[in-house]
Amino acid sequence: MLSSVLNSERAVEVNILIMRAFVHLRKMIVSHDELAQKLSELEKHLKDHDDQIKAIFEAIQQLVAPPEKKKRKIGFEVREGRAAYQVQIMETYCKQEEARDGTLNLITHVQVEPAHESDANALIPAFESTKERDLSPEEVLADSLYGSDENCQEAEQLGVDLVAPTMGSKKESSISLSDFEVTEKGTIVSCPQGHKPMRTKKKKIRHTVAFDSQQCINCPNQNSCPVKPGKKHHYLRYTDKEMRLSKRRAYEQTDEFKDRYRWRSGSEATVSEYDRRTGVKHLRVRGFKAVRFCATLKAIGVNIFRATAVRKAVNDDKAALGRGLSGQMHAIYFIKEHLQRAWSQLRKFFVLFIRNYERMAITAV
Ligand code: SF4
Repeated sequence: MLSSVLNSERAVEVNILIMRAFVHLRKMIVSHDELAQKLSELEKHLKDHDDQIKAIFEAIQQLVAPPEKKKRKIGFEVREGRAAYQVQIMETYCKQEEARDGTLNLITHVQVEPAHESDANALIPAFESTKERDLSPEEVLADSLYGSDENCQEAEQLGVDLVAPTMGSKKESSISLSDFEVTEKGTIVSCPQGHKPMRTKKKKIRHTVAFDSQQCINCPNQNSCPVKPGKKHHYLRYTDKEMRLSKRRAYEQTDEFKDRYRWRSGSEATVSEYDRRTGVKHLRVRGFKAVRFCATLKAIGVNIFRATAVRKAVNDDKAALGRGLSGQMHAIYFIKEHLQRAWSQLRKFFVLFIRNYERMAITAV
């Protein structure tokens, strides 16, 4: 402190004044704390009162005008944000990797339909439409929505090989119908363990195959096999459709199917290109006919873009080939010129030699 350093009357007086100032400040701070506490209490009281007053007002309003009951809406609600139509397209594709850039792949079918229509129903009309225009495909890759058993059957009748995965998947651990040996007519002739059935029967669309219960009870595959114990035998019941689907599921696991189906992913790029180049997802027209007209024109536009790109690629290739040929021709001319020059010098040398030889001969004579 100041008085502890300066031992004078004035220093002591100043020291006392400083202490008093600190005491005064402390009193002020304490009084402010009390004040703040009182203010927060007051605020809380007011808030409580506010809530109470609000509740009173709401009760009075309900008494004066009771809330209206919700009326039941009549008819459909129109939501503008949802797409009203969907477009199905079919295009050609090239399986040769190296020839893809120079090959023209075109959209061969455009079908516009209301958005609620199932995709599965669009496939067969597309085959029929292309067949009418002599553009019928030999093989079509489609996703599982189009790959119903009915579509596969109809496609076969139209001479089209439909490659599409089935809905659902094959259970890894269990034995399926495709693991049984069957004839072309779909009749089972032996089980995965190689046992022949005791009898087979077909009633309308359902096959029933009976296996020896003794063999099935002792079989290591008993838990994963679809046969079920019956009165006299173990029975397997199935329809032709179930057998076809099972065979297709088994085929989907093969490398051959994977190799054939891998080209399907290219159609996603086409859908993207269709929208990116033409804006088909944001048409400015309304009504089925106008939408169909626009979507078809836009698909034609995509085809024109593609044809132009392929033509340019082919012309570029020709130009590159021409440049390559001119280089070769230049080399041929270069060699020819040198050969001609060498030949003329050789001839001159021989002519000179013969003349000198004749002169020497004459001189000798
Ligand atoms: S359970 Fe019967 S039908 Fe199935 S594999 Fe075994 S023996 Fe064959």
